[in-house]
Parts: sequence; structure tokens; C-alpha cells
Amino acid sequence: MIKEVGVIGAGVMGHGIAELIAASGYNVIINDVNQEILDKATEKVRWSLERLSKRGTLKEDPESVMARIRTSTELSAFSSVDLVIEVVKEKTEVKRQVLSKVDTILANGTIIASNTSTIPISELASMTSRRQKFLGLHFSNPPVMMPIVEIIMGDRTDESTLETIKAFVETLKKDYVIVKDVPGFLINRLNDRIILEAMTMLEEGTPQEVLDAMVRFRLGFPMGICELLDFVGIDTVYNANREMVKRGFNSRSSDILREKVENGLLGSKTGEGFYQYEKQGSYSRPVLRPMEAMYRIDPLRLLAVAVNEAAWLLRNKVSTAGDIEKAMKLAMNWPHGPLEYADRFGIDEVVRELRERWASTGESRYSPDQLLLEMLGRNDLGWKTGKGFMGWNFSEASFGPIRLRKMHDYALISLNRPERLNSLDEPSWKGLLDAFEDARSDAAMRSVVLTGEGRAFSAGDDIGMMESWKDGNDANNWMKSFAEPLIELLANYPKPVVSAVNGLAFGGGCELNMFFDIVLAAEDAVFALPEGLIGAMPPIASSYGYSLISRKLGRYALTGEWFSADEAREMGLVDIVVPPGQLNSAICEFTGKLSRVAPLSSASIKSAINLLRESHKNQAKFTSDELVRLASTKDFNEGQKAFLSKREPRWESK
Ligand code: NAD
Repeated sequence: MIKEVGVIGAGVMGHGIAELIAASGYNVIINDVNQEILDKATEKVRWSLERLSKRGTLKEDPESVMARIRTSTELSAFSSVDLVIEVVKEKTEVKRQVLSKVDTILANGTIIASNTSTIPISELASMTSRRQKFLGLHFSNPPVMMPIVEIIMGDRTDESTLETIKAFVETLKKDYVIVKDVPGFLINRLNDRIILEAMTMLEEGTPQEVLDAMVRFRLGFPMGICELLDFVGIDTVYNANREMVKRGFNSRSSDILREKVENGLLGSKTGEGFYQYEKQGSYSRPVLRPMEAMYRIDPLRLLAVAVNEAAWLLRNKVSTAGDIEKAMKLAMNWPHGPLEYADRFGIDEVVRELRERWASTGESRYSPDQLLLEMLGRNDLGWKTGKGFMGWNFSEASFGPIRLRKMHDYALISLNRPERLNSLDEPSWKGLLDAFEDARSDAAMRSVVLTGEGRAFSAGDDIGMMESWKDGNDANNWMKSFAEPLIELLANYPKPVVSAVNGLAFGGGCELNMFFDIVLAAEDAVFALPEGLIGAMPPIASSYGYSLISRKLGRYALTGEWFSADEAREMGLVDIVVPPGQLNSAICEFTGKLSRVAPLSSASIKSAINLLRESHKNQAKFTSDELVRLASTKDFNEGQKAFLSKREPRWESK
């Protein structure tokens, strides 16, 4: 049983570890090279305990915890300890010196744990005579606050040592993950992948504030990458990366980090790193705000390299899927683990991203892990097939040309007539009604996404269908049987609806967006309200659209001009514009954000929005009647015919 613990090294990590262990009821002896360092360390421990006590998180009087801490510059003081934690600086020779010495002092069964970040545990174990009783115990900084530790097994660590350490860590009220001895273990390997990719994005010209805003406000990580580097210490990360690479980790060094280290810009501890700090040595968060530019870079770039690393760890049985997820969620406060991110974004998307990076850089670190390729081969793509690294709720149905996929907690409805640019014929209107109705009545679906398959969102109402109307009665029947039921449903839809506009959004295909809560558009999407050019009119744009979205819609309805995604964003029809190929990332982001809001709150907000639409219903009724009236005119017929035969119409105003 562990009663007394020896901590060698009283630096940044050592004094924090000693504090944590003493506060958990153990007697602790701290060792360092001189008494001055030890005195400073105990002062820091006292200060921290008093702070915890003031916050009410320390159950005991700080002085009674301090009474359990002793210091000594002599390792001989460790002869009676039951566990040694080695926390000296990250230099193999320094570690060799203390480990080989303390090994001769300890009783046979005493366990030694090293807090090393990069040196292989088996290598350190071989410096002692107790390879079975040696393992890695990797605390994160600050040890008192961080909820998780990595337990690293050396090549000879025995099960009883593991069991003893697991029980010990539990008494510290920390969670743990068990990891095999690979360079960087688990957390540092995943972080290193993301940091290196982030540095590559900076090298390509992405401003650091944009990168950090994307990470914070789109991915939902608690800190941007540059912020994190400044907080941890750029030299710490740079050196750890170099050590890992030296030991066979297939990565590279970053010139940006090297230059910062060479110039002494190490982060908050030197007053400047990526950001500047008022007080050297004290961290304060840089002010970052969400900005439009953060949508022009793809979060998948960072995730894909982390997922690839996680797949490697899993395939090589370095850790379990559960531990990989737990480590990143608890140590880094990520909202999801890398494997869940992979399943959400799609294994196919992750592989595509990696292959693109591999092709454009020639760097083999981007080559997709075999496990990902096997999953791709089995069609285990994540949320979109119901199985990826984990299992998810999934079902698929077709309503004529409309496809409905229930992707765990959101419904993806797609217009699936790509050969006709997803133009809206009667079966499409009916299919949309049925699919939206189905998603509405399924409580598990928190939001709905509408998109188009192929290169168009929707080219609008099918002109063949409109041309077949013989008179206003046919138009009226279409309005009553197909258009109005869907309009009615969408105008009162109780769940958030997102649309992802991936190409042409013309006529009805443009107007449907006026009912949606979040409209995402690819940079190359084009919008138009060309109904006037064929003798018709856009009923939704001229009612709800004009009054609730923008006066500018009047211009586009009256001229039939095309407008870009950026123009649509400026007028409030589109919310977010992303580069082509990045709509999937935006869909994953926004469906994720929508699912975090309380369901009742979301429903209340939707009710209020829908009520406002209700007050514009008269206007909508007027525009529907106008369209039916126009449909009985000669000009309407002429408009459809001219369009189909690709000639200029001859208007008679009849
Ligand atoms: P540090 O430089 O702050 O502290 C190291 C301490 O070891 C110093 O007080 C030094 O005087 C002492 N020391 C050096 N030689 C010694 C000897 N022969 N005998 C006794 N003490 C000796 O380093 P740190 O940041 O606390 O890191 C310590 C270990 O923890 C390293 O292995 C590091 O990789 C690991 N680690 C650090 C962090 C972090 O964020 N700083 C996080 C996880 C793990």
C-alpha cells in the first residue's frame, strides 16, 4: 500500500504533483538539487493550497497538508517511500543520473514512475534494476487542475504495477488512460499533428487570429492553437516535437516555432509568443472574436491529421478507442474526441482531405492510415452510414426524387435529380413535404439540413411542368396541392433548418432558402429570381423574402439578374459562405451547434420566428394569387415556350 511518495524534481510539474499527492492524504518528500529551489517550490505549494482553500475546493486546512510535505536534497531520504515519481528536466542524461541512483536506495518492490513527455519509458526503465516496477505517469500542466493522466506501460511493466498505479491515481481523484510506449504517447502525438498542420496553414498565409478564431468558434476547442502554444510554452512544444521526430515519429519541425524559440518569443512566460502579454510570466487570454474569414479555412484540415494519428494509435493497439476519446476530451477539453469527429465529418471526407494534402505536399505523414482505408472499403463512413469508429443511429428513405438520411441527430434531406439540376417537379415538391414531415415527427432529429446532389442546389421550378399548365386552374391546383402545403410546413417548421447551397439556386430553389434558419453557401454558388423573365413571379421572395430578408430582393426579382453567394450574404439571405468543397464541414459544425441548444429553447425560438412569418401571411396569399393569375395569361405561356426553345419571349401584356 502506498503511504509515502517521493517526488524528484521541484520545478513546474514537480511541485504541482507533490501538492496534488499531499492534498490527497499522502506523505510526500520532494527532492531537488538545492534547498533554495525546494523552498521556492514549497512556497508555491502553500500559495496554491491557500487559493484552493479560499475557493472551497480544499477540504483541509492548507497547513495540515503542508505538514505532510518534507523536502530533501539527498535521495537517501527516499529509502522508506512506497512510490517515486521522477519529474526532473527532460534530459536523458539527467534522468539517467537520478534514476540509477534512486534505484539503489529503494526497496525491491518500490515502483518508479516517470513524468517524461518524450523519452521512451522502456529506455528509462532500463536505467534501473526494476523494469517490471517502472512505468510512465504523465501528468498534464497544471497537475492539480488537469483531470486526467496518461499511464504508460514500458515493455516489461507488470500487471501488478499497473493495478497499483491505477488505484493510486483513483485516490488522487484523477481519470486515467493507459497507453503503450510510443514517442509522444497519446495526447502529445495528437496535439503535435494538429499544431504542425496549424503552423503549415500560417506558413500558407492564414493570419493567426483567423486560425485561432476558427479553432475556438468553429471547432469549439477552448483555446486557439497559437493561444495554446503561448500558454504551454513554444519551446516546450518545439522541443517535444524534435524529440518525437528523433525517435521515429513521422512528422517534421516547424520553422515558425524554431524562429520563435531562437528569438526568445516563448509565449506568455517571456511576455511574447504569437501574442503579446502585458505581464511577463502571467498568462492572459488574447482577445479573439468570431470573424467572417474563419469560414474561409477548413477545420477538417486540423481534424484529418488528428484522426489519422488516432487511427494509427488504435490499429497499433497503443490505446483503446475509449481512452483516445477520453484523453482529448479531458486533457484538452475538446467537445468531441478525434474518433467521434471522424464519424461526424465522415471517414470518406477525412481520407479525401489527407489524400489531397499528401498529393499537394508529397509528405508521407499525410498518407491515410490503413485502418481508415479499410473502413472506407467496408463503407463504415460514420454518421452517414450508421457505423464508423462507433455505431450511430442511421436510417435512409426515398420520397420520389428526394432522399432523407437520418444522421444520428439530424436529418439530411437532399434533392436528388442531378440530371435535371434538381429542378422542382411535382414529385419533388411532394417528396420534400413528406421528408420534412418525417424529420419533423422524429424526436431524435434535432435539426434538418437541405442540400442538392450533384452540381446544383436547385434550378427552380421545372419549366416543363409549368409549360404543361393549360390555364390558371392548373396553376391553382399545383399551388394548392404541392406548393402551399410545403410552404405552410416550412413557414411553421418547429425545428431549425439549415440549407447547404452547393451550386445554382434559382427561382423556387432560391426562394426555399427564405424559410431556413441558417443558409450555408459555397463561394461559387449562384442565386437568381428569374421568374419575371418567363412571365411568372417569385411568390416567396415577393412576400416573406422582401419583408423579412431584404429590400434588395426587389431588384433581383425585377431584373432576373444573377447574384453571388457573397452578395446573398450581404443582403441576409445567406449566413455563411465557405470555399467550394467545405460545405460538409460547415454542415457538421452547425448541426453540432444546433444540437447543443436545449430542445425546448430551440422550439420556443422557432415558435417566435414562425409567428412573425404568420403576420406576413396575407402578403404570401396575395403573391400566390398573383402567380395563379399570371399563369392564365398569354405572356406566361409565351415565357415558358420561349425559355424551352431558347429564344427571346415576345411580350403582349395579355
Ligand atoms: P522544470 O525545468 O520546471 O523542472 C525540473 C526540475 O528538476 C528543476 O527544479 C531542477 O532543478 C530539477 N532537477 C534537475 N536535475 C536534478 C537532479 N539531478 N536531481 C533532482 N532534481 C533535479 O521542468 P518541468 O517542466 O517541471 O518538467 C519536468 C518533467 O515533466 C519533464 O520530464 C517534462 O517533460 C515533464 N512534463 C512537463 C510538462 C510541462 O508542461 N512543463 C507537462 C508534462 C510533463
